[in-house]
Amino acid sequence: PKPLATRIAFVTGAASGIGKAIATRLAAEGACVVVADLDLAKAQAAAAELGSTDVAVGLAANVADEAAVQAALREAVLAFGGVDIVVNNAGLSLSKSLFDTTEADWDLQHDVMAKGSFLVAKNAARILVDQKLGGDIVYISSKNSVFAGPNNIAYSATKADQAHQVRLLAAELGEHGIKVNGINPDGVVRGSGIFASGWGANRAKTYGIEEQDLGKFYAQRTLLKREVLPEHVANAVYALCTSDFSHTTGLHVPVDAGVAQA
Ligand code: NAD
Repeated sequence: PKPLATRIAFVTGAASGIGKAIATRLAAEGACVVVADLDLAKAQAAAAELGSTDVAVGLAANVADEAAVQAALREAVLAFGGVDIVVNNAGLSLSKSLFDTTEADWDLQHDVMAKGSFLVAKNAARILVDQKLGGDIVYISSKNSVFAGPNNIAYSATKADQAHQVRLLAAELGEHGIKVNGINPDGVVRGSGIFASGWGANRAKTYGIEEQDLGKFYAQRTLLKREVLPEHVANAVYALCTSDFSHTTGLHVPVDAGVAQA
């Protein structure tokens, strides 16, 4: 692949949390970064933290809306001349039990994560294929794509959908030199803004603990006894996009301090 310092990254949901950490790491390695998120002002503010508009731009793009995705990708190409790395990170977790999950909940989770990541991957892959320079597509899936737990049925189903998208796209895009990999984080509660959306409160209730103890709770159930931070997920995205992983596609990398094996 092209060296990271010459590459252009399109990161969805990058105004906060894990996406912001990914955008920050890729920018620190010299890549030009497009911060795509729901709210234009927040996306632009996050991009401004990364540098001038020569190296980072913020765009509004609801990933569940194909016209918006196409417009954002067009703007990205206009700004930087192409796209080399695509990170499907945008998401939300309603964290509800089976009987609390409504049809609207199911549709929202699937619109953003199953459909949204497909729309981004499909439209970005068109650009990558036409450029004939290979590229990387990385999905931020979840431990929940593989492991079952309580109170997360709609969310987890979309994560399993994303995991299979990774395998299907790896198969379809491999001949174009495009690698498609997934990352399965777990328990990233600090610095991500997810407490505000109710995710933390619901999870804490499920485990019968206080919300502020969630980070420690997750750390204790890992093999490494470590809290997983957004930066740890960003490190894995960076690694997958370097030449060290030039022959790896269709892989899912756990970034969970070992909880999935515990
Ligand atoms: P977050 O809420 O801090 O960030 C998610 C971002 O996605 C927000 O900026 C939000 O505005 C954006 N977004 C939501 N809907 C969107 C849409 N339709 N279009 C564009 N942007 C949209 O949450 P986070 O924890 O950083 O989550 C990022 C990703 O990581 C999600 O896909 C999530 O499922 C996944 N993940 C998180 C954890 C964790 O423990 N936090 C674990 C596994 C997987």
